[in-house]
Amino acid sequence: MTTDIESPYLLTPGPLTTSSETKQVMLRDWGSRDAAFIRINRELRAHVVSIAGGGDDLTCVPVQGSGTFAVEAMLAGFVPRDGKILLVINGAYGHRMAKICDYLGRDFLIYETPEDTPPDPAAISDRLAVDSKITHVAIVHCETTSGILNPIEAVAAAVAGQGRRLLIDAMSSFGALPLDMGQVACDAVAASANKCLEGVPGIGFVVCREAALSKTKGNAHSLSLDLYDQWHAMEGNGQWRFTPPTHVVAALHQALAEHVAEGGVAGRGARYRRNCDVLVAGMRAMGFETLLPDALQAPIIVTFHMPIDPAFNFQVFYDRLAAKGYVIYPGKLAAADSFRIGCIGRLDETVIGGAVDAIRETLKQMGVQRCGPLAA
Ligand SMILES: *Cc1c(COP(=O)(O)O)cnc(C)c1O
Repeated sequence: MTTDIESPYLLTPGPLTTSSETKQVMLRDWGSRDAAFIRINRELRAHVVSIAGGGDDLTCVPVQGSGTFAVEAMLAGFVPRDGKILLVINGAYGHRMAKICDYLGRDFLIYETPEDTPPDPAAISDRLAVDSKITHVAIVHCETTSGILNPIEAVAAAVAGQGRRLLIDAMSSFGALPLDMGQVACDAVAASANKCLEGVPGIGFVVCREAALSKTKGNAHSLSLDLYDQWHAMEGNGQWRFTPPTHVVAALHQALAEHVAEGGVAGRGARYRRNCDVLVAGMRAMGFETLLPDALQAPIIVTFHMPIDPAFNFQVFYDRLAAKGYVIYPGKLAAADSFRIGCIGRLDETVIGGAVDAIRETLKQMGVQRCGPLAA
């Protein structure tokens, strides 16, 4: 895969390694009111909607900023000021939604499971059944904290069964794992340019049902994150309300063309699955243990327990791998000492195989012999 010989491989869940072509299209300047720019913006929005399953009832509203901006815009827009939200949490990104609700002053309730445990849809139904004030439920699709895949279809069915509305943070899965809004009952899905779509950072977006979005006028607490207003303006003249990240839009437009060329969600998901399999097999062969059993592991990012061997030092390990051209990710678990390696971005199994070799060589240089978390 062509990336850029001068960049290290980013085995991180975004920003991530992008193609040369995606980087190249950022070499030209775009006027934000140019007909050509307005056209690529329109195509980009339609394309993102098609990845979410298409359908005339859907729209894509982009927002300037990172993914969190889109999650915040989604919660602020869809949950009315007098609404109440049940947050289904099993990691740091779920907790971030709670923090956002705190800032927004939205009433919320938390249903939390451990970081290696998916939520139980029946427990969600129970909580909804006893609290009629809850209007919305929000959940993370793939919790990037651990790499766990949450059972989104079953959760959506439980929420719909209780007549409530579902909002999904699909940041780290959108474009690689299926999430068909024609099948999954939800009002909105938040994602961003710089994860499985393999664009560069700077845009988040919310794919939502127009019927639900059209009822959100006046809910937002913030002008710049007002999804309704952004949508209304974009539908009107095709333009962003405030200065768009023009280069980021152009890069995402190119990255989306590469997504199609690869076979869409199925093609991209299959490559990430191969990356994940090569990574996990290679690491297990050295004695590393994954946090999650294979059945819960999304092919997005893998959490490994820190080795017990006293010769292991994460900072040294990280620095030596980076010097060999592979950037990994520290752990984010509350419960266990860990580190993470991403499977996403413009990387294939050859690159992942190279990373595994570099890890083996680095451990040898460090004198690390026992890579498991428990003394042998
Ligand atoms: C990356 C990510 C976000 C957003 O993070 P930003 O740093 O704001 O881009 C939100 N939720 C999940 C699940 C993520 O993986």
